[in-house]
Amino acid sequence: MEVIEKIIQVKDYLTKSNLPASDYVINPYIGCPHGCKYCYACFMKRFTKHNEEWGSFIDIKYCDKPLNKAKLKNKSVFLSSVTDCYNMFEKNTASPVIF
Ligand code: SF4
Repeated sequence: MEVIEKIIQVKDYLTKSNLPASDYVINPYIGCPHGCKYCYACFMKRFTKHNEEWGSFIDIKYCDKPLNKAKLKNKSVFLSSVTDCYNMFEKNTASPVIF
């Protein structure tokens, strides 16, 4: 399946989390090129107005400000709750996401 790759500007990599296991979440992408049939994260299409099939798009988040490390002191961060943060696009693409 062809994957539509796009870079999107975000205000912050950190998102306040409502999950009991973490204070913040970092999802470096919207979408996931693996497109697993059992994936619960496909609900993200509703929130991001993607009409494409789950697995056929990936928005790579780019933020031009560095992570606020002071904000993270004594906080927990869940990396990648709704995507695969080690997806195949990292292999060939110089990622604009710099932590
Ligand atoms: S987020 Fe996980 S389960 Fe969902 S499509 Fe990607 S690899 Fe599969």
